[in-house]
Amino acid sequence: MDKLKERIGREVESLADDLFAVSDFLLANPEIAYQEFKARDYLSRMLEQKGFEVKKGVGNVETSFLARPADCKLSRPTVAILAEYDALPKIGHGCGHNLIAAASLGAVVALRLILGDEAGGLVLVGTPAEEGGGGKVRLAEAGVFEEMDAAMMFHPGSTNIPGKGMLGRIKFNIEFFGRSAHASGTPDKGINALDALILAYSSINAYRQHMRPDGRIHGIITHGGDAPNVIPDYAAGLFYVRAGSRTYRDELFERVKKCCKGAALATGAEFKIEVHRPALDSMKRNPALEAAAMSNMKELGITIDNDDGRLGSSDMGNLSHYLPAIHPYLAIVGSEIASHTVEFRDATVSTRGRKTLLNAAKMLAMTAWDFLTSPELREKVLQDFAVPE
Ligand SMILES: [Zn+2]
Ligand SMILES: [Zn+2]
Repeated sequence: MDKLKERIGREVESLADDLFAVSDFLLANPEIAYQEFKARDYLSRMLEQKGFEVKKGVGNVETSFLARPADCKLSRPTVAILAEYDALPKIGHGCGHNLIAAASLGAVVALRLILGDEAGGLVLVGTPAEEGGGGKVRLAEAGVFEEMDAAMMFHPGSTNIPGKGMLGRIKFNIEFFGRSAHASGTPDKGINALDALILAYSSINAYRQHMRPDGRIHGIITHGGDAPNVIPDYAAGLFYVRAGSRTYRDELFERVKKCCKGAALATGAEFKIEVHRPALDSMKRNPALEAAAMSNMKELGITIDNDDGRLGSSDMGNLSHYLPAIHPYLAIVGSEIASHTVEFRDATVSTRGRKTLLNAAKMLAMTAWDFLTSPELREKVLQDFAVPE
């Protein structure tokens, strides 16, 4: 390993107690999307102690922050290392965002020590509400990433991989409006909204056979009527469509609208679809930057796994269309433990979880270093980013 990367490793090791403290504090104080005040303040305070200047509430999101090395002139290229710190309702840090925040903090603090006065291209962005809130979308739309050249973070998981696909996602309500009537006495006067919703649901099921493998449509019925002897005048459901590209995601959503239209025609009911903002975009992968991350993972002695092909969605997908971005995974558990569980949460503070936290901080700092110091890498990263999805 080159001398400088060895030094990154040593600086991260020397910060280990602080990084474990960050992870433990977040674990003990889980806060859900857009409520992450304790996390924002704890992380900001620690960054200030380590020589960073912190601006809270950037991009009109109260629980966000942006940290830059104090007394350093802003410089390009700029790399943004992202800290997520929101938890899940009830199970707390079952997605391991406590490790994400700690690793990203470790990476910028270690790099700052090494870069000294030349650290003007280093930024840590605290990005709230990954779980269902789309915090990164709001920050990106507000222009927070405008002057930045690349973004990176790590996510704990059950494999070591430099990146994987993510599905674009639209979440929406479907409502059908009919007319109530006595279900036995005057059924001819009624329009059954529940029948309409079930027809739409069945049409979606029939369409599923024709979908590409990366397509998903899944939903539930949230309201199906009030009494069995009253023809339901209102029925509602909550659905997701997901796909590996924005185009296909939008195509599936259009198809769902047609299924609803057909059900409305068949029953005489009317319908309304309401989309929850923001929609999530698929991940625009950056092979050059992922290759840099992978080579650093190998230097750290990490064995690279095969992608298990399991796909979710994240607001990192949206961000990857604004600027080159990577979202590598490092394992804290085996494949028998799923994320969003209590077991996964507990693994964030296991011996393996601790080791992964330090490895993640090192990998991020090393990859950010590569990006900031290698014009050839930046050129390749830009070329990859220019390829349309
Ligand atoms: Zn999650
Ligand atoms: Zn997560």
